[in-house]
Amino acid sequence: MAKEKTHSIEQGEAQDPAEELASLVGALRTHLGWLTERGVPYLPAAPSPRFSEPVAESVAESVQAPDVAPANAPTHAHARPVDLSEPRGGVSDQTSSAEDLATLTSPGVGASGLARIRECLGDCHRCGLSQDRVQVVFGQGAPDADLLFVGEAPGRDEDLAGEPFVGAAGKLLTKMLKAMGFDRDQVYIGNVIKCRPPRNRNPLPEELAGCEPFLLAQIRAIQPKIIVTLGRFAAQALLRSDESIGRLRGRLHSVVLDGREVVLAPTYHPAYLLRNAQAKRPVWEDLQRVMAWLKEHP
Ligand code: SF4
Repeated sequence: MAKEKTHSIEQGEAQDPAEELASLVGALRTHLGWLTERGVPYLPAAPSPRFSEPVAESVAESVQAPDVAPANAPTHAHARPVDLSEPRGGVSDQTSSAEDLATLTSPGVGASGLARIRECLGDCHRCGLSQDRVQVVFGQGAPDADLLFVGEAPGRDEDLAGEPFVGAAGKLLTKMLKAMGFDRDQVYIGNVIKCRPPRNRNPLPEELAGCEPFLLAQIRAIQPKIIVTLGRFAAQALLRSDESIGRLRGRLHSVVLDGREVVLAPTYHPAYLLRNAQAKRPVWEDLQRVMAWLKEHP
C-alpha cells in the first residue's frame, strides 16, 4: 500500500510518517544531549518550555537556545563530494539541445550572468509545468551573495507575485535571515523548479532534469560560498540522494560544480517549521552551523 503522505510546496513540506518519526526522534536526541550536557540525568516529567512554545513564534526567538556543540566544526558527509557537473542519470537534460547553459555563464559573473540566464529562460515552455503556472519565478537577491537559499518550487503566492518565498513560509524565512544577521537583499533566494507544479504536487523527474540546469547556471554566476537547501526535495536534488531530510540535515556536505567545491547545508523547509514547533531547534542549529562556517571562511 502506498505510504500516507501530505504535500504542498512553499505552503507545506512533504512529510511521510517515517520521516516525521525520524524528525521527532532527532529532536528528542538533541534535547536529551542538551540536558546531559547540563548535568540533568533524566527527562523531566513536564515538557520543556522550549518545546511547548507556540508555532507562530519566529525562529529568531530561538537565538536564546543553548549553544550548539558542533557549530564551528563542519562535518562533510561524503568522502567524495557530489559533482553537479555530471549529467543527472536516467532522464535526459531537455535544455542541452537548445543551449549549453554551462557555457552561457562564466563563473562569478554575477548580475550580468543572471541577466543572461533569465533572458535564456524567457517564457519557458521546456516542461509541462509551463501549462498551469502564471509565471516563471526566477530567483531574487544579491547576484554575488555568499549565501544561497534553495527551496523546491514556487507556491501559489510566489506564482502570483513572481518572487520566491513571499507567502507565510517566505515571511518566516525572512525572520530566519534576520536571526542570522542578514537582510533578504544580502543573500540570494531561489528554487530548484521555477514554475509552480499544479496543486503543489511533487515535481516529476523530467521536470527536475529540465529545470535544474538553470539553477546550476545561477550557482555558476553567483558563486556562493555556501548553499542552504530548504526541505527534502532541494536537498535530495542537489545531493543526488534519496535519504530523508532528517538524515541529510545536521551536518555540512560538499558539492562540486565545474571543479569548484561549494559547501551545502540542508535544513527543513520554513513551511514545515510553521507546522512543527519541534523543528525550530534543529533548524536554528543548522543555521548556526552555517554562520560559524561563514565566520571561519570570510
Ligand atoms: S519548470 Fe523550469 S523547465 Fe519547466 S517550464 Fe518552468 S522554467 Fe521551464
